[in-house]
Parts: sequence; C-alpha cells; structure tokens
Amino acid sequence: MIELREVSRIFHVGGQEVRAMDRVSLIITPGEYVSIMGPSGSGKSTLLNILGLLDTPDNGHYLLEGQDVTSLSDAQLAEVRGRKIGFIFQFFHLIPRLTAQQNIELPLLLAGVSRKQRTERSLPLLEAFGLADRRHHRPDELSGGQRQRVAIARAVINRPAVLLADEPTGNLDRHSSGDIIDLLEELNKNGLTLVIVTHDPEIGNRAQRRIRVVDGTIASDSGR
Ligand code: ADP
Ligand code: MG
Repeated sequence: MIELREVSRIFHVGGQEVRAMDRVSLIITPGEYVSIMGPSGSGKSTLLNILGLLDTPDNGHYLLEGQDVTSLSDAQLAEVRGRKIGFIFQFFHLIPRLTAQQNIELPLLLAGVSRKQRTERSLPLLEAFGLADRRHHRPDELSGGQRQRVAIARAVINRPAVLLADEPTGNLDRHSSGDIIDLLEELNKNGLTLVIVTHDPEIGNRAQRRIRVVDGTIASDSGR
C-alpha cells in the first residue's frame, strides 16, 4: 500500500517558486492499475518520482507498506527502492555496452547474486517477454519495443510490489505501444501494482483508476 499525506514538492527556479506538487494526498492499494494524466508540466513525473523514491517530499509524509519513508537517508531509500519498486521510463535508460540479458540481470549483479542464480532468474523472463533470441544483443541492436521489454524485465526481476512507468510508450510506434501496455497489464493481472503516467488518453483510459493532475494537484480521481 502506498499512501501520500499532504505531500508537496517545491522547486526554486530563478528566484521563483514552482509547486510541482501541492499538498497531494493519495492512497493506492495493492494490485491497483492506475493511470496518471494531465498537461505537460503539471507534476506527473514529480509525483511518480516521489512514489518511486527517486525524489523526496519537501512537506508531508509518504508511507510505503506502513513504513514512513519520508525521511530515510539516500542509502536507505535505495535499499527500499531496490526491494519494492520497479521503474521504467520513456527513453528506456538501458546501459548501452551491456547485452539485453546483462541489462536485465544488472539489479541482481548489484545485489551480489551469483551468476548461476542470475541466469536462472533472467532466462524465464527473456523467454516470457519474447526476447530469448535477442538476449546477446545490445540496446542499439534492438527495436524500441524490444528495448522497453528489456527495461520492464530489468524492473521486475527483483519481484517488486509496485511498477511505476513514466510515459512508457512515449517513444514507441502504435503497434509496439500496444504490445508494451499488454505486457504491463499482464503483470498487473498477476498482482503487481501498476501506475502509468501517460498523455495518451487511449492508454490512460484503459486503467481501472484514472487520476488527473493539474498544477501539482489532483484535479480528479475516478477511484475516489
Ligand atoms: P510533467 O511530468 O507533468 O510534465 P513535471 O513533474 O516534470 O511535469 O514538472 C512539474 C513542474 O515542476 C514543472 O513546472 C517543471 O518545470 C518543474 N520541475 C520539475 N523538475 C524540476 C527540477 N528538477 N528543477 C526545477 N523545476 C522542476
Ligand atoms: Mg513528465
């Protein structure tokens, strides 16, 4: 369970105050499928970054599975993030020098998991995500859709409870977009909490719960 209580995030740009999040309160329960839509600059990425522990609130509290994570150190945040949260981005953020398989196994490598165990975990994912015959390819040898599938596999290899996706189809053609959303929805059906930021209403409207963000606040929430 994710709970934000009156969370604000304020940036100072050239002497001006930008309230990217303005006292946002929000509860997301396990297994939910949520989309976040809203105009450019409305605070969608800021909200997702805070949910994903990539950024921290200036005010308010964030409770993740009952634990107050608002004032954890960077090392503690990284530890909780590594266990509980997967994140994917519009531009994939893969490591160019590594193969698909190595990218997917990276979180395990960083956690000190043995080579044998890494392979035991990555091969079924490569298989399930239709990447088995691409596993030795580097990102620049893969299509956009394949790159995003590698990024999703990397995001879920530690079996997180929550997957956060910031414009995951923003850099894909229509066909690959559909494939990626199908894959994300399948993961959600298997119990993963899924939060997708998108400006594409066709994608956003597929979610069971739709949240609209305007000027750093929640303007509407179909789940409330
Ligand atoms: P969205 O994802 O909806 O396009 P963002 O969350 O990226 O919006 O940004 C919300 C507001 O906060 C914007 O006005 C943006 O310029 C500002 N902002 C976001 N990140 C930063 C930052 N690191 N430094 C300064 N301003 C930022
Ligand atoms: Mg954004």
